[in-house]
Amino acid sequence: MGKGFVYLVGAGPGRADLITVRGAEVLKAADCVIYDKLANPALLQYARRDAEMIHVPKRIGKGSCTQDQINQVLVEKALNGKTVVRLKGGDPCMFGRVAEELAVLIEAGVGFEIVPGVTAAVAASSYTGILLTDREYSSQVTFITGREAAGKDQSNIDWQVLANFPGTIVFYMGMGTLESIARWLIENGKPADTPAAVIANATFPTQRVLRAPLERISAECKKQEIGPPALVVIGDAANSDARFDWFMKKSLFGKSIVMTRDAAGNEDFAPKIVSRGGHPVPFATIRIHPLTDSNEFLRALANFSRYDWIVFTSRNGVASFFEALRVLGKDARAFGSSKIAAIGSQTAAKLADFGITADFVPEVFTGRELGNQLIRSANVRGKKILLLRSLLASSELVELLAGAGAEVDNVAIYTATTEKSDSSPLVEAINEGSINWLTFASPSSVDGFFEQIDVDLIHSSDIKVASIGPVTSERLKQLGVTADVTAKEHTLDGLLDAIEECEKSR
Ligand code: SAH
Repeated sequence: MGKGFVYLVGAGPGRADLITVRGAEVLKAADCVIYDKLANPALLQYARRDAEMIHVPKRIGKGSCTQDQINQVLVEKALNGKTVVRLKGGDPCMFGRVAEELAVLIEAGVGFEIVPGVTAAVAASSYTGILLTDREYSSQVTFITGREAAGKDQSNIDWQVLANFPGTIVFYMGMGTLESIARWLIENGKPADTPAAVIANATFPTQRVLRAPLERISAECKKQEIGPPALVVIGDAANSDARFDWFMKKSLFGKSIVMTRDAAGNEDFAPKIVSRGGHPVPFATIRIHPLTDSNEFLRALANFSRYDWIVFTSRNGVASFFEALRVLGKDARAFGSSKIAAIGSQTAAKLADFGITADFVPEVFTGRELGNQLIRSANVRGKKILLLRSLLASSELVELLAGAGAEVDNVAIYTATTEKSDSSPLVEAINEGSINWLTFASPSSVDGFFEQIDVDLIHSSDIKVASIGPVTSERLKQLGVTADVTAKEHTLDGLLDAIEECEKSR
């Protein structure tokens, strides 16, 4: 067996999309991914599903022993011929003990590449507008590890030099020793009123910033319970113009939003929440099962080109359909000259992923509007229409189209069953008051959710409920839950727009 290869990859500061293009590329190629707690597990989405994931928790204090174990796993996997990615928070070479990992690789004769990452200080600066350099106040910046401040005697830091350093000082790993850091700087001549800031959880929806003069920064952090991972910025930079902060001003910043679709649907939804500054909390309530091996579907497929219209009413329907085509060795040519309708922009976008442009999308994304508008704009009398939908879809659309004289075949192409998720972390978060919104994108998600979570728990909390459309809101109502907002446009973006509007008016 040939020797494997190790990529030491900077995962960036936290947010999954702040990894480099090269980093995501090598993650995709990895047989084995080794990651610790600083690297966001959401990054694993870039890796192959069959890649081996090894979590190596590394804690302060357990230091070298755990580092030895990490080194051992790295070498072992590589010598087994694996392509290994060692994912390290921020930049791998910034306070990352990379030299030790490289030494064992070299000794074992394993090839390696280092992929840089955005280091925490640089990212924290961008995500807060606390500019580390500025021609007005700071032409230099220094990065220091706070671990060295633990005991003054064995410290490598020359506190006198540092106290007189005229630029911006940034401490990594400084939260445990912040009081000593401030004291030694002040004792060595740094003015007690030097501006300081602590930036915690930079780039995450839980990001926090605290500004205080150096002499008070440690006490303020304790008072406001700000803990690691955090950076300490000392110098005029900490007084940057507050208007430079763009991230924490985002519309849904700091809001925890529960997603209740199927697991893949939640993965699609999460980046939309993140891009508005929110914190997506996945809780899968349903599991999608394709029904594409049914006789009914196969019969419809055999007669596919005889249909005038083929109608999709969800992304899941489109995905199940194309998966079935793939398995049968067919492709989009199966549509022949049939026209294609999609219930809304998301379903149309999913079709577009497979190179298909929908011929018809209603202006309002509900089954009823799809039916009414199709009847109005196309002459459906005597036309053959195939609906490829969920087994659980309502009969309204069938009745509308049939009522207008169309010959309708309604074929279930997938169904949803309740997914059993571990509900205790969510229940705990709700009880702690750390959840702001529940979102529902289909009636089956409503059912799946309240099979697992007690309605009373929601009633007795401040949580708000958002629904994607009238059918979903109606199902909520049947269970005794009133949707606080119902999306005007029945898409995930519309759902977030509705939440945003409600938050703005509060
Ligand atoms: N290699 C990493 C640093 C590892 S040392 C990098 O380049 O960023 C770990 C320290 O990094 C933490 O104690 C904290 O000071 C800082 N850090 C890492 N991620 C952070 C984040 N998202 N927000 C604030 N500080 C962070």
